[in-house]
Amino acid sequence: MNKLFQDKCRKLLAILIEKSFPELKNKKIFVFTTPFRKNYSGLALRFFWPIPRMIFINKKRNKESIGYLNGLLVHEICHLALIERRGFIKSAFRGMLYWIFPKVRRAIEDEVNQLAIQKGYSREIYLLEKKFEKKRIFSGIQKYYMTSEEIKNYAKSIKKW
Ligand SMILES: [Zn+2]
Repeated sequence: MNKLFQDKCRKLLAILIEKSFPELKNKKIFVFTTPFRKNYSGLALRFFWPIPRMIFINKKRNKESIGYLNGLLVHEICHLALIERRGFIKSAFRGMLYWIFPKVRRAIEDEVNQLAIQKGYSREIYLLEKKFEKKRIFSGIQKYYMTSEEIKNYAKSIKKW
């Protein structure tokens, strides 16, 4: 069952990269579905050879719609795209600050969602945040992310809604 979900995520990722992320076309990205705490949906990591880029998707999300999964994958791909843009050293440093300073974490997550919206995935990103918003507010992690309302407003402001 998990293998099927993993294959599905890998196929969706390949389509998204092909369609919208030419900058990552020749970069190797590994996708794994793993157990996470329930309010976390995914994680992107930039690492070293032979597994330089990894995306982990919470296997509890296996019942979610294609729209939701595309939103989740695009969010994680945008983390990798921004790491590529900024370069490995600066990104590693920023990655450390991400876990120490809530403000840095929020800034990185905003940058990620804004890039996803600029790339044309406003509806998917909206769905991604909307779906578990109440639970995430309750558990305290929503403060690191734009709300679904903020996503809609940003998308409208750049004519991507
Ligand atoms: Zn993120």
